[in-house]
Amino acid sequence: MNYHLVLTRRCNLNCEYCHGGEENGPDTEVQYSLDDLARFIERDSDPQIMMYGGEPTIRIPQMMRVMDRFPNARFMLQTNALRLNLIPPDYVKRFHSILVSIDGREHVTDGYRSRGVYRRVLENVRWLRRVGYRGDIVARMAVSEQTDIYLDVRHLLDLEDPRFDHIHWQLNVIWDAEGNWTDFDGWVRDSYVPGISRLATEWVDRMEEEGVIEGIVPFLPLMYSLLTHRPSRLRCGSGLDTFAIHVDGRIGVCPISPDWDFSIVGDIYRTHPEELRDIMTVDEPCPSCEVYWICGGRCLFANKQRLWGESGFRKVCDTVKHLICDLKREVPRVRNLIGKGRLRKEDFNYPEYNNGCEIIP
Ligand code: SF4
Ligand code: SF4
Repeated sequence: MNYHLVLTRRCNLNCEYCHGGEENGPDTEVQYSLDDLARFIERDSDPQIMMYGGEPTIRIPQMMRVMDRFPNARFMLQTNALRLNLIPPDYVKRFHSILVSIDGREHVTDGYRSRGVYRRVLENVRWLRRVGYRGDIVARMAVSEQTDIYLDVRHLLDLEDPRFDHIHWQLNVIWDAEGNWTDFDGWVRDSYVPGISRLATEWVDRMEEEGVIEGIVPFLPLMYSLLTHRPSRLRCGSGLDTFAIHVDGRIGVCPISPDWDFSIVGDIYRTHPEELRDIMTVDEPCPSCEVYWICGGRCLFANKQRLWGESGFRKVCDTVKHLICDLKREVPRVRNLIGKGRLRKEDFNYPEYNNGCEIIP
């Protein structure tokens, strides 16, 4: 089972689309003991621990104690990377994947996140390479109205020093649209949709011309599903095999929703890991949707909560359907390359383990 371990609810940034830096007070910190946590985790035969916050790197000693206590667990990290270089190299190298928040070009990243963040993140990712980190470094973008998806993804893909192995993005469509968007519909129509189409076409062009499959996270597993016809369940795994351990020891289906009662499904004191499996699944309209087999339902939280209302939910679905449609169009070209032996189907099988990339933006 996969656990997002919330090391603190505090953050050292206060990004435009998140406001995590506003969390304060004693309730933001872990309230259970390491022994309490161990009694729960040790009942899981294959635990994966994903360090999460707030910002997990403001609690590095605690992170190290957890890593020491569970030597056989697999570890992932999601971080804004400002303090990444303060993790001792021996520990940082134990992460299977590190998801680093960066939103694309410098002015876009700094505009959302704070001045100077872009440069600091790149410096620390260079440090990560320098200390010999061999895992998967994923640039994780939050995408909002200032984003040009084509230019910002391209920018991150083209960086050479440091190089990111994969680029993933999430649309800023979970929380209230108020104040975040002035014209979501126009942005989707004029910027996002054409940008995705262009990225998808050029992604396959590059495969044809150079035999290179660029690490665009949402594209890889969707193309794999299209090639294999293997249906997918909710790709972020929430409620299925992926849970959050909140600072008070309650277990939730998703790390972002400790304050929503529906999302709490147990606690580390009384719940056995196996009781959690498949405890919550998406409701309609997903199971009846024509693309459910490949989308998987996008986001359990949005499916249950619908903070954008019914019509807002459908608008986001339209972006997903468009993405799937663009990739479907490219299937014959990809199949052709596989047929010629230039690529393998398995090249698209990403991620190896759920590393915190939700896959569907
Ligand atoms: S496109 Fe929308 S309705 Fe269809 S499965 Fe995905 S989230 Fe559900
Ligand atoms: S996609 Fe939705 S349900 Fe899944 S982890 Fe993200 S916010 Fe939670």
